[in-house]
Amino acid sequence: MADLINPLFDNLFRKHQKSNKDFILFADGSRLTYQSFSEKTQKYASIFKDLGIKKGDRIAFQLFKSVECLNIVAASIQMGYIFLPLNPDYTKEEVLFFLKDSRARLFICEEENKETIDAVKALGQIKVETLTKHGTGSLNCLEKGILGYSKVMECSENDIAALLYTSGTTGRSKGAMLTHKNLLSNARVLKTAWRFNSNDVLLHALPIFHTHGLFVATNLVLLSGCSMLFLPSFDREEIIKLMGDTTVMMGVPTFYTRLLESSALNREKTKSIRLFISGSAPLLSQTHKLFEKRTGHKILERYGMTETNMNTSNPYDGIRKAGSVGKALPGVQIKIVNEDGDIVQKQNIGSIYIKGDNVFKGYWNLPEKTEEDFTADGFFKTGDIGFKDNSGYIEIVGRDKDLIISGGFNVYPKEIELAIDEIEGVSESAVIGAYHSDFGEGVIALVVKLNGHEISKSEIGLNLERKLAKYKRPKEVIFIEKLPRNTMGKVQKNLLRDIYSETFSS
Ligand code: AMP
Repeated sequence: MADLINPLFDNLFRKHQKSNKDFILFADGSRLTYQSFSEKTQKYASIFKDLGIKKGDRIAFQLFKSVECLNIVAASIQMGYIFLPLNPDYTKEEVLFFLKDSRARLFICEEENKETIDAVKALGQIKVETLTKHGTGSLNCLEKGILGYSKVMECSENDIAALLYTSGTTGRSKGAMLTHKNLLSNARVLKTAWRFNSNDVLLHALPIFHTHGLFVATNLVLLSGCSMLFLPSFDREEIIKLMGDTTVMMGVPTFYTRLLESSALNREKTKSIRLFISGSAPLLSQTHKLFEKRTGHKILERYGMTETNMNTSNPYDGIRKAGSVGKALPGVQIKIVNEDGDIVQKQNIGSIYIKGDNVFKGYWNLPEKTEEDFTADGFFKTGDIGFKDNSGYIEIVGRDKDLIISGGFNVYPKEIELAIDEIEGVSESAVIGAYHSDFGEGVIALVVKLNGHEISKSEIGLNLERKLAKYKRPKEVIFIEKLPRNTMGKVQKNLLRDIYSETFSS
């Protein structure tokens, strides 16, 4: 295998370069073969090289979801660059932070983003190219008439391929350095675990600036040489209409709750699908059960994060437990530990630590933070808390920063949320802590009512009296219209904590 010189490019892209198989299927019925995709990638590689971008340089892009983003990724991997996909929602200030922090050499964005473009140009040192949805933009112009570039830069498995910035809900965003080995090993493990094969058609409605849509979804398609139905975003009616042409769907939990809100979702519509996968945020067991009742499919829930790729999965064959994220994937070591770092007994809650080829190299330019977040024996401290049940399945109870300590007792928000969600008339809830002069922190429940239902604070209180010890019960119940969620469907508890921080202060 003398020509295997670039682990990711060789395994994900090079082997399909001459393939006439469909890589991308679009909602309007048009298609793009692997070969056409590859030809454009070669042109991008050529353009980037001519712009003077060198191996190890960072290239950033902030674009609408498009195949061009994948071409940029492929060209970057081929040329040994480090790519940074940026959320299109980021403001100019945020983009400037990422570009400065990563010392990016090239920034590709939408031509319409004039303000950001001017601000980035003013930084100097960074080249800016643009794209538009209509095929104009400077990168499209450069592409015309250019000859493809075929050389593949040599990379080692420990070279960084991507810099993914974490959402930074508790401070500044950090760039997670992901190597060829991290990404390739995880894609290989998932391919086997979820039985991906060249006949699959993945329904892809996720964003591609995040690990879920970019690495879990796209890398699996590329590694198995199958096709994906590439949708710009989650559009429930369109998804239900097109589902019948696909075999696997990956989604965040809100995809599933929204699908269930449509009476058109049924067994007939989902019959071509062999696997529904959920991740990036907790899937309520009630959603898991309702989905099975309606479609006959048991959603497979898995757990991962930007820094570690995927860590656990419910089994393809065997029991897919509602409310659990399954067992450690092959090659991933997981331990659940107490404050002293000692492994806790099964069923006991502790911090989740992870080690394996899937785990990132560290935070860009933050050696102290990296050191702090790894143990001496190489385990990454995820910041998640959870427990292992008697059969080895893991349940996540939340982030450690969401833990509430009230009167010296640990209160795990998920337990309270589950108890509240069971109450008739409740749609969903989020439980947070706020400063309380007597208890240190007091528990607050933010509750969303089910459409058309009336329920009072005292009914919730009475209901919880039967289910929860006194110290766990909310000292305040507040009704809100909806929970704030980020693009991946995660409830933004940091926002809620800010808004309700003074609840017990008066
Ligand atoms: P991100 O880096 O944006 O992918 O976020 C990773 C975090 O999402 C993890 O550390 C978990 O807190 C959470 N997460 C991911 N998958 C799940 C899941 N299946 N259940 C509960 N939390 C999850």
